[in-house]
Amino acid sequence: MLIVSEEACQAVVGRSDAFQAVENVFAAMASGDAYNFPVIREAIGHADALYGFKSGFDRAGLVLGLKSGGYWPGNMDKGLTNHQSTVFLFDPDTGQLHALVGGNYLTAVRTAAASSVSIAHLARKDAKVLGMIGAGHQAGFQLRAAAEQRDFERVVAWNYHADMLPGLAAVADDIGLPFEAVEREQLGAEADVIISITSAHDSLMMKDWVKPGTHLACMGTDTKGKQEMDPALVAAATVFTDEIAQSTTIGEAQHAVSKNLIGAGDITPIGNVINGSHPGRSSDAEITLFDGTGVGLQDLAVASVAARLADEGGKAQQIQL
Ligand code: NAD
Repeated sequence: MLIVSEEACQAVVGRSDAFQAVENVFAAMASGDAYNFPVIREAIGHADALYGFKSGFDRAGLVLGLKSGGYWPGNMDKGLTNHQSTVFLFDPDTGQLHALVGGNYLTAVRTAAASSVSIAHLARKDAKVLGMIGAGHQAGFQLRAAAEQRDFERVVAWNYHADMLPGLAAVADDIGLPFEAVEREQLGAEADVIISITSAHDSLMMKDWVKPGTHLACMGTDTKGKQEMDPALVAAATVFTDEIAQSTTIGEAQHAVSKNLIGAGDITPIGNVINGSHPGRSSDAEITLFDGTGVGLQDLAVASVAARLADEGGKAQQIQL
């Protein structure tokens, strides 16, 4: 059995590896070759933590396993990230544990890969301004991955906690993009692509603030009750997602669905666009929205790449169970 540390994951899995793995698994989900098992998520009544499992099987990629972990809000004070996770990969032929893989870095790269897959397939080719809503742990990963998908000329950003924005500005500076902190109305008026990655529980972006042709990657809402977008904006957009069942219940679309503004039939798996069975964006004026809810198969896909590359590069530890 392999043990692949956080450090090894960071050393071997790059953004392009994560992009490829996530794009492939979204396509496999849409063609029925890969499926996610029901998610378990519990407030454990200790340390204010949310803990759970996400699991699935990709028959095409032969990846079986689970990600276990959750959210510990007090971790930041201990010098740890609030999200903690570990991936377990099993041999689909025997059920034996194949690898134990650190999941923290991989969660960030696979989430950034999901929004960048959506940008690659749905944003206008001439997108020039990237709008960032959020400046927490995930936001820098999102910015770096998105910046590789279009010839962006600048970044406009807003965050609820303004004191976190300099950290994101430093990432923009590192990749050579001018950065401006703006109000949300201005962000909507200027951005061609908007990524939202916050833990908000209310609309941060209103329908009338977003211009025609915008692509929105809504990545923060992954739980019932969370919300980043005006439901009227979701209803006005053409909605794509990683998994429809999650989009309507725990994703950004949950609010538009519960208000009967849209139904599950209005939402398209992004894998259909990747597979070519849906054309994706239909005009330069269309607003497209990717509801990235986060599925276990994304984690398993990148963890499988990490295990393979770490093993090949001598960076994984071998132990006998
Ligand atoms: P973080 O704790 O580092 O940052 C939280 C972000 O949310 C910050 O930008 C903060 O200013 C903002 N925020 C907090 N309270 C807010 C409020 N009331 N209104 C508006 N903004 C508020 O968290 P992170 O690791 O960067 O994760 C951000 C979000 O992304 C979380 O909700 C997390 O659950 C979600 N997430 C989603 C996926 C996915 O696959 N879709 C994966 C990982 C994380």
